[in-house]
Formats: sequence, structure tokens, C-alpha cells
Amino acid sequence: MEPIIHMENVNKWFGALHVLKDINLDVQKGEVVVVIGPSGSGKSTLIRTINRLEEIQKGRIVVDGIELNRDVRNIDAVRKEVGMVFQSFNLFPHMTVLENITLAPRIVRKWPREKAEQIAMELLERVDIADQAEKYPAQLSGGQQQRVAIARALAMQPKIMLFDEPTSALDPEMVGEVLDAMKELAKSGMTMLVVTHEMGFAREVADRVIFMDMGEIIEEGEPDQVFSSPQHERTQAFLARIL
Ligand code: ADP
Ligand code: MG
Repeated sequence: MEPIIHMENVNKWFGALHVLKDINLDVQKGEVVVVIGPSGSGKSTLIRTINRLEEIQKGRIVVDGIELNRDVRNIDAVRKEVGMVFQSFNLFPHMTVLENITLAPRIVRKWPREKAEQIAMELLERVDIADQAEKYPAQLSGGQQQRVAIARALAMQPKIMLFDEPTSALDPEMVGEVLDAMKELAKSGMTMLVVTHEMGFAREVADRVIFMDMGEIIEEGEPDQVFSSPQHERTQAFLARIL
């Protein structure tokens, strides 16, 4: 089967700093891939190249058959297919939850307000916060804000969802509710790339775990294999520190 994400010899530099080194990665439709690795290893940069938040200098990235090159039409097309959720929730503070979610679909997809609001309410039900629709972000807990951010990304009906440490900024008691929303999304068949230190989530939900270090994919495999019998010394050292 044609992978929905194809990365081939991808290289990226920030100035003289070589942050992605010959990355080869294929992700199949519906696959959930968890990316782990030490701070500074290139995890964020890797997933940000997939919606062109970061440009690459060498190699190829093809997303759902669209070549990510300098052509802005291609970049726009890919961005319509890829949703992203960040560590900091990045909601618009002056807009209600419902307005946060309906804004992009109304502008980009040109949906009328009624349609956008109906779909937004369905998504809020899905992440279990329909009762918060009229509130402003500052009135919500971190866990609720992050679930709004997930709903907002889903409102654009993406084919792929990228998560960059979505629970790292949350108080511990709110991590579970966000992971539950992500688990539900994974079960629905969404293609997901998730940078996280939540090993329980990885074990339960990931089809594949990728360990990165110093800009390279060092090791990958099924979660059980990577966690229980890591092959590479650097993976072993990393896991020993976090588990
Ligand atoms: P991770 O997400 O695994 O912590 P990053 O992808 O954020 O790693 O960073 C990889 C490397 O690239 C780090 O050395 C980081 O300091 C560097 N880096 C990240 N973003 C930039 C940037 N915008 N400009 C310069 N260097 C950057
Ligand atoms: Mg990061």
C-alpha cells in the first residue's frame, strides 16, 4: 500500500547544526506512530517538516501523494490535510471555544456558520466538553483547553494528526483526559504521529515506536519490542532514564 507519509533521505540544518540526518520514514494510513528520544534529538523538527512548518534542505517528503516542495499550492494542500496539536494549546484568547473551533473551517473551507457550529459541537461531544462551548480559554483548565485544541484541529477534517508533547504542559491530573481523547481518535482510524514521553499511551495505542537521537532514527519497532528489548545501546540508556 502507498504510505500516506513518505520521507526519503530527509536532511535539515539550522545554520551549521545538522538536526535531521537521512531520515527515512513511511507511515501507513491509520497507523499510530509514537516518537521518543532525548530533548534536542530532532523530534519536533521531524514532525514539523510534515506540514512544512520547517523547510528541509535535502530529501523528499510526500504527503498523501502531494510532493512537499517550494510550490505553495502543494504546501497549502498538505496543510489542509494535516492537523497539529502543540504543547502550549495556542487557543485564541479573545474567542469562545466555539469560535476557536469554527474560525478556520468558516474561512478556509467556506462553511456557513450553522454547518461549522454543528460540526464543532459534534467534535466537542467527542472530546467530552460540549458544555464548555460558550466559555473563553482562560475559563478552562489546561486539560480542557488541550481538548479544545484537538477539536479545533479536527474541525478541518485532517487525514493526519501531529501531536508535539500534547500533555507536557499539563498538571498531572489532567494528562489522562487528554490521552483518552487521543486514544479515541486513534481507535477511529486517524493516522497519528505523536511525540510524547507517555510510555503507557505508547504501549497501549502505538503501532510503532521510533527512537530518535541526535537527528537520527536509531531504532523502531512495535512498542513491546522497543520498550522490553531495545536493541541499541542509546535506546537502552534513554529508556533506563525515563522508565
Ligand atoms: P526535540 O523536539 O527532540 O527536543 P528539536 O527538534 O526541537 O528537538 O530540536 C533539534 C535541534 O535543533 C536542537 O539542537 C535545537 O536546539 C535545534 N533547533 C530547533 N529549532 C531551532 C531553530 N528554530 N533555530 C535553530 N536551532 C533550532
Ligand atoms: Mg520538541
